[in-house]
Amino acid sequence: MAEHRTCLVDTHCHLDLYPDPASLLRSVEAAGIYTIAVTNAPSVFSHTKQLTEKSRYVRAAIGLHPELVKTHAHERPLFWQHLAETRYVGEVGLDHVTPDTADRSLQREVFAEVLEHCAAIGGKILTVHSRRAASTVIDMVGRDFPGVVILHWFSGSLREASRAADNGLYFSVNPAMTRSKSGQALIERLDPDRVLTETDGPFVSLGKEPATPPDVSVVLRHLAEAWRMDEAEAANRVFSTLRRVLPVKPVEATP
Ligand SMILES: [Zn+2]
Repeated sequence: MAEHRTCLVDTHCHLDLYPDPASLLRSVEAAGIYTIAVTNAPSVFSHTKQLTEKSRYVRAAIGLHPELVKTHAHERPLFWQHLAETRYVGEVGLDHVTPDTADRSLQREVFAEVLEHCAAIGGKILTVHSRRAASTVIDMVGRDFPGVVILHWFSGSLREASRAADNGLYFSVNPAMTRSKSGQALIERLDPDRVLTETDGPFVSLGKEPATPPDVSVVLRHLAEAWRMDEAEAANRVFSTLRRVLPVKPVEATP
């Protein structure tokens, strides 16, 4: 049997929002980093889909960001249409930073429809935003969702996190979370078997630069510390979690 090498994992990266997505894609590809390229509106999905079509490591996700629901809800038919073209869905979810109740209720309506369409097909992998709306998101996903749900940049309470884990949900941790007290507390608490890594670049930065997929190594350093193991073991752990939830083919040690 071929020996497998551990690959880095970035389950939430906005590839299309960097100044030069094509060159970033080439470097991610060369480094062999499994990346989910999320998109924020159905109308921009095809561009990322085309860009990543021949990629071995990068997959395009169809999304409708909760903060764009207000202006882009009319793109829903396009969402359902593209849903058959990819196994990956994101960025979707709820953002309750807005006090606007009409906006919140439209977000819930759209997210419920996304979950319904994904459940009808089955086997989708969703990367979900839940800022100030963790409980509602966890309730809406429920216990028996027929797919994989990854809570990205989770900022709910520890109690909500354990409820999400009990329901079978996963968490993707990014560099910004490793810098905050609440993020660190969450990392300490999470079951390592439920943890994936992400950058949420270019929204998250490292120093003055937007984070890019190789920067998941920053997250791995923190995970390694929390899990009392070395960085290579932590990377291995995250990669095995990815292989458990996604249809990832093992990569042979030699090209
Ligand atoms: Zn994002």
